Amino acid sequence: MTRTQPIILIAEDEESFIEALTLGLKREGFLVEAARDGEEATRKFEEFRPDVILLDVMLPKKSGLDVCREIRSKSKVPIIMVTAKSTEIDTVVGLEVGADDYISKPYRFKELVARVRAVMRRTPGDNYDVTSQVENESIEVGEIVLDTSKHEVRIRGEVVKVPLKEFELLEFLISNPGRVLTREQIIDRVWGPYYSGDTKTLDVHIKRLRSKIERDPSDPKVITTVRGLGYRLETSR
Ligand code: CA
Repeated sequence: MTRTQPIILIAEDEESFIEALTLGLKREGFLVEAARDGEEATRKFEEFRPDVILLDVMLPKKSGLDVCREIRSKSKVPIIMVTAKSTEIDTVVGLEVGADDYISKPYRFKELVARVRAVMRRTPGDNYDVTSQVENESIEVGEIVLDTSKHEVRIRGEVVKVPLKEFELLEFLISNPGRVLTREQIIDRVWGPYYSGDTKTLDVHIKRLRSKIERDPSDPKVITTVRGLGYRLETSR
């Protein structure tokens, strides 16, 4: 049976994470099932046959590693393991439990969604037609094509490597073509409302983006500076 919405199973014992993830993922078009311990995770896997699983390593009753091994022994469903510290990732990878990807807390929600979509594309489930969802997720303005599902940027037809923060910055600009975005709006969106670092960070990221996007970075025509206000992505060259 083909569903229009993919089911994601979240195995997580921190209630605040479950709430935030459920809300966010529903907004991204997922049907969300949550399991609060390892045993519930295996049970809900059998019951709901999710299209992708987000699996915390440290779970009560049965560890995420055991759950992963168990599910992997009978299904190819994409699994993303969640570790509490990035240093744990090496250990988890070394154990070869069969996960498709790893992410460590704290992570940005957008990054998580990008990874979820990526593993689903690599290993589409049996019952969900992933191809219908990944189409039309690219935004094109001028010479830039930004593919949010593949997390890919193409400039004049060539794929350009862009780090996550620069990608998010470009995504925000390109989603508001021709509009002036104030420095505050951009920082708020890309670095979060609680960002307390140097505001020069924004200028540094703009500079790096320009070096990749602009024909002449010293005379930017795509991302222009609006003096005293912020930046604007120009719609025509
Ligand atoms: Ca946990």
